[in-house]
Amino acid sequence: MSDCLFCKIVAGEIPSKKVYEDDKVFVFWDIAPKADVHLLLIPKVHIASLNELDESGEHDELIAHAMKLLPRLAKEQGLDNGFRTIINTGRGGGQVVFHLHMHLLGGNNLPGFE
Ligand code: 5GP
Ligand code: ZN
Repeated sequence: MSDCLFCKIVAGEIPSKKVYEDDKVFVFWDIAPKADVHLLLIPKVHIASLNELDESGEHDELIAHAMKLLPRLAKEQGLDNGFRTIINTGRGGGQVVFHLHMHLLGGNNLPGFE
């Protein structure tokens, strides 16, 4: 999607602090970290939010892949005690960037429910 911030990050048109990339997903540091570790995992394909996941199952493999990557990324960041994932969906859910993203947070100063 041409005017999407995260699509531009995937394309390298906007710089980011990349952590991991494969054919399906892109992982980078949040520009304003809310905890010691704050990564964003996004699909390379533009999906606006969880509301736009394909009901027929087209995104199933992608979502499973992304979910399974999270603990691997957390370990690589040294988060041996655990980590928090957040997916904001829609304006009412606090979503600001409308390209599906999973927040991976860990270390001190974790935001959200305790
Ligand atoms: P949301 O509220 O949509 O779930 O979260 C969007 C996140 O994207 C926020 O945590 C915000 O700090 C991050 N963000 C916004 N613009 C940029 C950017 O240009 N680069 C990076 N790396 N993160 C961004
Ligand atoms: Zn996008």
